[in-house]
Amino acid sequence: MYRTGHLGVSLLVAVGQPLAALATGGAMLWLAMLPDVDHRIPGIPHRGPTHSLLFAVLVGGAFAGAGALLADGVGVVGHVPLTLFGFFVGFVSVGAHLLGDVLTPAGVNLFWPWGRAFSLYVTRADNTLANWGLFLLGIFAVAAAGALAAQGLP
Ligand SMILES: [Zn+2]
Repeated sequence: MYRTGHLGVSLLVAVGQPLAALATGGAMLWLAMLPDVDHRIPGIPHRGPTHSLLFAVLVGGAFAGAGALLADGVGVVGHVPLTLFGFFVGFVSVGAHLLGDVLTPAGVNLFWPWGRAFSLYVTRADNTLANWGLFLLGIFAVAAAGALAAQGLP
């Protein structure tokens, strides 16, 4: 997937998390392209280590650490400890990227360094209609969730 498609998937995943959706959604958009940093690191194959559940756990761990450092000042988000919330934000941000890429025929190697690539064979990564369609779907879902929240619905 390209940036527009990944942003759309990140928005769609963020909508499903009404609690702290603003913080989560903001971080997810910021990190939407993080796994594709492998394009710029020599020696690391594309859709290799940075497109795995292990990487999602590592990013979640980094955010959990940041949450632990901040916890003295803030404590909790809602009823969730900041460390756990940080892990959730990091893990789901990378997970949303993996979800976007698993739609493509090349798939992602979720269990790197073991296993093989998984793909749902929905669309090619360079499909303009799919990328913009996901982006607009994400925008629409956020707008709809915002409108429902403004009316006091779930
Ligand atoms: Zn990717």
